[in-house]
Amino acid sequence: MRYYTLTQRGVEPSRWTGAYDLGREWVLPGVECPTCKTAWGGGGYDYPTVDLSELPQRRDFEQPRCVPWDQFVRLRERVLPLVPPGAIVKPGTGFGALTGRARGKFPPVVIHVPWMLLMEPAVVARLKGLTGFIPVATRFKARPGMRDLVELEVRPGGSISGAAAHEPCSTCGRTGFVLPPFGQLRLSEVPTVDFARSGASVVVVSERVVERLERELEESEVVAVDVTGGALTARAVRPPAGATHHH
Ligand SMILES: [Zn+2]
Repeated sequence: MRYYTLTQRGVEPSRWTGAYDLGREWVLPGVECPTCKTAWGGGGYDYPTVDLSELPQRRDFEQPRCVPWDQFVRLRERVLPLVPPGAIVKPGTGFGALTGRARGKFPPVVIHVPWMLLMEPAVVARLKGLTGFIPVATRFKARPGMRDLVELEVRPGGSISGAAAHEPCSTCGRTGFVLPPFGQLRLSEVPTVDFARSGASVVVVSERVVERLERELEESEVVAVDVTGGALTARAVRPPAGATHHH
């Protein structure tokens, strides 16, 4: 099975004027790492299905900020029991629904930033039987009449060619890996599901997704760029029929 990343075609002028401020209900702070001396956080490992509303002192997770490493570790310990198995939790990881203000006219498939996939519910319904995604309602503030959008939670799977060659920081896990330019991105390991997060900021989808949504992607001015490369020679395990991810 071939895999693709989805990106906006950059049509000028676009018929779609939709835009939103990126906000999320809860977020782990960014860090100042004592080992690699980098201040960083954010960029893709978000879990909209994870609900921190019952967590004591959840206010600690409401303001994006930068904290010393030790404080980050204590905050992370409090949320780890709530995250799904296999989740990667980093500085800046977000939880809960997307918030903030949305305005303008959105297409049926929205990719403002490549690590976040939003769709209207009718498009999500066309993905029935496919695996690796969980739709979660967004909580944008918007004028009445704006297209209803849900976000897809997409969990880690597969890997990007070249990423493994970079040794992560022994404390914070950050690596110096820089994504190759668009069009040169390749998978070294293909996912076992139809939607997967193969890197913090890289969501890949299977050819089945691209086939199902051909019309919607076209209408949304979104193109699918093949990232399979030589990874097809890796052992691609197909999930058993009906193995839809339930939450
Ligand atoms: Zn570090």
